[in-house]
Amino acid sequence: MIFDAALVRWGEIGLKGGNRPEFLDRLARNLRHALQPWPGAEVIALGGRFLVGLGGHGSDAVAALTRVFGVTSVSPARRVALDPAALIAACVDAATTALAATAHRTFRVKVNRADKRIAGTSIELERAAGAAVLARHPALKVSLEHPELVVGADLREEGAFVYHERRPGPGGLPVGSLGRALLLLSGGIDSPVAGWLALKRGLRLEAAFFHAAEFTGHAAAEKVKELARALSRWSPRFALHLLPFGPVQLAIKERCDPGYRTLLYRRMMHRIAVRLARLERQQALISGDNLGQVASQTLENLALTAAASELPLLRPLLTYDKEETIALAKRIGTFELSIRPALDCCTVFQPPRPRIRGDAEEIAAEESQFDLEALATTALAGREIWVFHHGQEGRRIELRDRELTAAPPVPPAEA
Ligand code: ATP
Ligand code: MG
Repeated sequence: MIFDAALVRWGEIGLKGGNRPEFLDRLARNLRHALQPWPGAEVIALGGRFLVGLGGHGSDAVAALTRVFGVTSVSPARRVALDPAALIAACVDAATTALAATAHRTFRVKVNRADKRIAGTSIELERAAGAAVLARHPALKVSLEHPELVVGADLREEGAFVYHERRPGPGGLPVGSLGRALLLLSGGIDSPVAGWLALKRGLRLEAAFFHAAEFTGHAAAEKVKELARALSRWSPRFALHLLPFGPVQLAIKERCDPGYRTLLYRRMMHRIAVRLARLERQQALISGDNLGQVASQTLENLALTAAASELPLLRPLLTYDKEETIALAKRIGTFELSIRPALDCCTVFQPPRPRIRGDAEEIAAEESQFDLEALATTALAGREIWVFHHGQEGRRIELRDRELTAAPPVPPAEA
């Protein structure tokens, strides 16, 4: 069966109730954005689902729909006339296509008659189409309760849509429906997965990566760009901010207790990220932190890192086991990128024995030795912005016409 349309179903609606139209509007916009590489494809709201006219495009466009958060399933479908004979023939065709790929033993036809112009009840149509499928494929058996194959027909004002599969979507909420956040993206396995989980809960994300290219070379930034590119397959637009962190690290190395280096790096990253987030109107930071994975992730050290963030810090992977994170990284297409070797800035000047449990007063004493604001301002002034769409190569954009260093930070929200 050649399909020319797709039925797109959604699941959970954010915050329920009254904001349903907003949710659906956002989902429709995100679907349209996902289809941009396929001109001519269109998205139409049907009651209870979306109809996508594929405009002659095929599987790749359908695959893009299955990466839109909020979508629970997608059925490639064929549009036929609202006429019983055409409908039955299309059901037989759909079953034949399905059986060519998979040796199903049981099936049923499921008709959803939202448009009542076609003669016969849903059950009558299901019986007639089922009988026609059986006549063509006599080895099949009908199972109304647990069929291996469901041939579906959705009857609408716009036509009858016949399908034989439901490809799972990622679920979650449409990106952008819950606000904006800034992801601290490293080249590791965890932070891209944390970002994916935040996108899944409806946050529109941009990412910040701190690099020390003068010490580590450019491989780390290139790797993070690849990760941002991978995440852009799941998001309407994905911007990556590259921030120079070498000067901060040098300052810390010169003046501080080596055991505190990693923790001080982290706290500075969070401070700078908060300033960036305020410039970019983001309401929270997201990190890939996990409880107990490495020395900087004891409860004490996680608390000291969070304390440096004046914005809420969300840690979607906090309680994940590494195996769970790796499984998800593989599923979303970031694992292979994350395991490529590249020197992270945090490995620069790594002390032999990092502090496992930092002390707030000691940290404050270490930090009193610097002008933290000046260091943050330098890092922000040196930022480079890359924008990614649809998993394609990124594009560098110029800093907006804004005097960054002088821009007054947006005041913190009222508690
Ligand atoms: P990841 O696999 O994401 O690197 P991790 O388990 O290796 O995480 P760390 O390297 O200690 O843990 O980093 C903890 C978190 O701090 C990261 O998940 C990320 O959110 C943030 N982070 C670390 N390094 C950087 C960096 N260079 N730029 C931006 N964020 C960073
Ligand atoms: Mg790491």
